[in-house]
Amino acid sequence: MSEQQHGSKAGFETRAIHAGFEPDPTTGAVIAPIYATSTYKQDGVGGLRGGYEYSRSANPTRTALEGVLAALEEGERGFAFASGLAAEDTLVRALCRPGDHVVLPDDAYGGTYRLFDKVQRNWGLAHSAAAVSDVDAVRAAVRPGETKLVWVETPTNPLLNIGDIEALAAVAHDAGALLVVDNTFASPYLQQPLTLGADVVVHSTTKYAGGHSDAVGGALVVRDLEVAEQVAFHQNSIGAVAGPFDAFLTHRGLKTLGVRMDRHCDNAERVVEFLAAHPAVSEVIYPGLESHPGHAVAARQMKRFGGMVSFRCAGGEEAALKVCERAEVFTLAESLGGVESLIEHPGRMTHASVAGTDLEVPADLVRLSVGIETAEDLLADLDRALS
Ligand SMILES: *Cc1c(COP(=O)(O)O)cnc(C)c1O
Repeated sequence: MSEQQHGSKAGFETRAIHAGFEPDPTTGAVIAPIYATSTYKQDGVGGLRGGYEYSRSANPTRTALEGVLAALEEGERGFAFASGLAAEDTLVRALCRPGDHVVLPDDAYGGTYRLFDKVQRNWGLAHSAAAVSDVDAVRAAVRPGETKLVWVETPTNPLLNIGDIEALAAVAHDAGALLVVDNTFASPYLQQPLTLGADVVVHSTTKYAGGHSDAVGGALVVRDLEVAEQVAFHQNSIGAVAGPFDAFLTHRGLKTLGVRMDRHCDNAERVVEFLAAHPAVSEVIYPGLESHPGHAVAARQMKRFGGMVSFRCAGGEEAALKVCERAEVFTLAESLGGVESLIEHPGRMTHASVAGTDLEVPADLVRLSVGIETAEDLLADLDRALS
């Protein structure tokens, strides 16, 4: 197929299935093989076949994944890493130097906050936090001349706050900074930040991109060739790359991203409707609800509103813990974005490390990663757990 048919101009699902790999020229294999090799035979000194020299630098299974990531996010180039945090660390080291400053979401993913606060800060990188939903607060947090990155998640975790990517890109660019969007929660099916002015997209592919809770991985997709060269150099120099097995699993997951996300969204909508009517639930937090403060922005920049739902229990923390323990179809576990539904108590689990800080979450909060099981089974499980 030509670039026209499966490159950036083809539909999303077509790109998800065909971009990044042509059927193998020798065997016709339609799926990119797992190239479990560290090195490559050279045809004479320096005579590389297809540019492959050593698998930290490049591996064909990873190349296929990186190609599809770039095509789905409509970026210049994609890069696959051993984890989301490995991708983030590589990006920061590629683009920031001691004395620089980064603006973070005031409800950033805990691991991201820890990376900046406990690791990068020791190397002279300052950070401050602002609410992604408040463009003026982000603008006020920017230090012109010092701020190199404005870092945004949208929707955020676990309160599902929404940042206006277009407006935040303008804030970053006015100050000579780049806008980085962690697109893990939305996935490229629901939101393409690079098309809205962002410069770099970050993913924990562990979540929706891989989608089956069977691999840990991360990705960067960039829109500018110069940034791509910096990231490529640091990816190879630091070496926190995705191995071929993980790259294969993530690539396989991405092929079904569109159908999975639509079912995640369908089921999340059913769950939201059910919880909103339940007397044991005091508040449902979902960007698809008109009552959500970020609803209008989310409706503008997202195709649908995603599979993550949070809610507060009328019975307080005790009730929230009970719901998590009683649920059976919803598995009590951290992480998100897999085909199976997960339930967790952010205050005691994913967000325990931010207790007592500005990032603290309500004690009566429960977070759901709504999977793609039969919707009726999910509703019956929640009904049982809440009663
Ligand atoms: C999980 C997650 C990360 C970190 O990714 P890992 O693959 O766990 O290293 C970053 N951002 C968000 C929003 C996440 O959910």
